[in-house]
Amino acid sequence: MKTIDFKELQATVLKENYCSGCGVCTALSDGAIQMEINSRGQYFPKKIQSKQNPQVVCPFADHQTDENFLAEEHFHDGKTKFHLQFGFYQEIFAGYVADENIRLKGSSGGGVSWLTNKLLDEKLTDYVVHVKPSTGKVFFSYEISKNAAELKEGSKSRYYPVSMNKTLQFIKENPGNYTIVGLPCFIKGIRLLQKSDEIFRERIKYTVSLFCGHLKTTHYTSMLISQFQVNEKEVESIDYRHKIPGKPANEYATALKLKSGEILVKPNKELFGTDWGWGLFKLKVCDYCDDIIGETADISFGDAWIPEFVRDWKGTNIIVTRNPELHHLIENGIQSGELQMKPLPPEKLIESQAGGFRHRREGLAYRLYLDQKNGRWTPPKRVPPEKIKSKKRRKIYELRILLRDISLYSENYKQPELLKKEIMPIVHKLNKVYEHSAWTKLRLKIKNLFK
Ligand SMILES: Cc1cc2nc3c(=O)[nH]c(=O)nc-3n(C[C@H](O)[C@H](O)[C@H](O)COP(=O)(O)OP(=O)(O)OC[C@H]3O[C@@H](n4cnc5c(N)ncnc54)[C@H](O)[C@@H]3O)c2cc1C
Repeated sequence: MKTIDFKELQATVLKENYCSGCGVCTALSDGAIQMEINSRGQYFPKKIQSKQNPQVVCPFADHQTDENFLAEEHFHDGKTKFHLQFGFYQEIFAGYVADENIRLKGSSGGGVSWLTNKLLDEKLTDYVVHVKPSTGKVFFSYEISKNAAELKEGSKSRYYPVSMNKTLQFIKENPGNYTIVGLPCFIKGIRLLQKSDEIFRERIKYTVSLFCGHLKTTHYTSMLISQFQVNEKEVESIDYRHKIPGKPANEYATALKLKSGEILVKPNKELFGTDWGWGLFKLKVCDYCDDIIGETADISFGDAWIPEFVRDWKGTNIIVTRNPELHHLIENGIQSGELQMKPLPPEKLIESQAGGFRHRREGLAYRLYLDQKNGRWTPPKRVPPEKIKSKKRRKIYELRILLRDISLYSENYKQPELLKKEIMPIVHKLNKVYEHSAWTKLRLKIKNLFK
């Protein structure tokens, strides 16, 4: 596989801010590259030894290999099928963990916590590398869990930037076998690392991906906290996916635990900027990703927000298995009653992530077309650039770029009233396009009816 040097990374990925902060670029650099949170509130690599120009791998650099190629190397064994939209899979399941202690603590059905616990319990892995509340300056970070008690603190989805740099260093220095939980681009980075370095190839035994809409900068968290009228310094931890009994699973709340012990909860419907479709404080690179479910991972977990399951406030997972050993664990879990799960047809998976697929296939094609027109370098993608036909969809994607960029560079992330003044004019325009397209659809329906 073609590796690149840091200078090339700087001239391409970093220059245009196509960095997800995964930290994979630090792993081969012998300490020459470090990750830091920058003024936009996202992790970014920094070269600290100026004379060196280390070789790096990066999920958004041009390594002349893509998700299909990487996945095929691992999963093309006759047991897996291939779907044009989401790649290799052995089986798709929907359901939840029967033990309510695990399910209610998880974001969806608690599947990731159950699986990682099982892997430790059955000694199939020595270490689980995942995201937990941090005791340092940041709210969350990648940490290593060796037993059930340590693992427990790591459930729930964290809409917060994280980097694997320190845990990759730990893996390098400590023999053992590891399971890594990460977002799709982080797992792609791990696969690239495994291709370039024997230690990572041997020690990382399993990869677990979360489905991913997009990741936020730290400013998203600051914006949420500011709407509780508390100072960020008073906050001990934040739960972005607080479940509300009786409400549909996608109508969750944000909960803050203050250092005083007090817990404050607000439904997301009452919090400005939480509409995922607006994409406020979204990392720019998330608009240049075409892997929604973590196609290169051994197993992937997402939210089953489709009519059949969304009404259950306790949460339901969609699971995509690829690695036969992990598939077997899931099947055993179903047989023993630890997992309440059933196979799900591929169309249902696509339905559950319909917005994500649209935005990062059709939308990505249009964004790549716009960049190409402006002579900008873009990460190589499986989706070709295209000036899509629908004028309305083009407008929607253009307005979303504006929302992303205005929020990314806004200095008003701790002042919701000022932020609203920047954001709402664009949101009104976006709503008008949606209203207009709803009217057009209705008019066409009536016309067809008369025909
Ligand atoms: C940024 C982000 C965007 C997402 N977007 C979508 C989406 O568009 N559609 C969808 O269906 N699902 C999405 N998910 C996944 C979903 O929210 C659940 O995480 C998933 O269904 C697993 O739920 P669970 O109850 O099985 O996990 P839990 O049992 O709650 O365990 C969660 C695991 O994920 C790890 N984790 C938490 N946050 C991060 C993070 N930022 N990076 C890496 N690991 C982390 C935890 O350490 C833990 O091991 C997203 C998650 C994140 C973090």
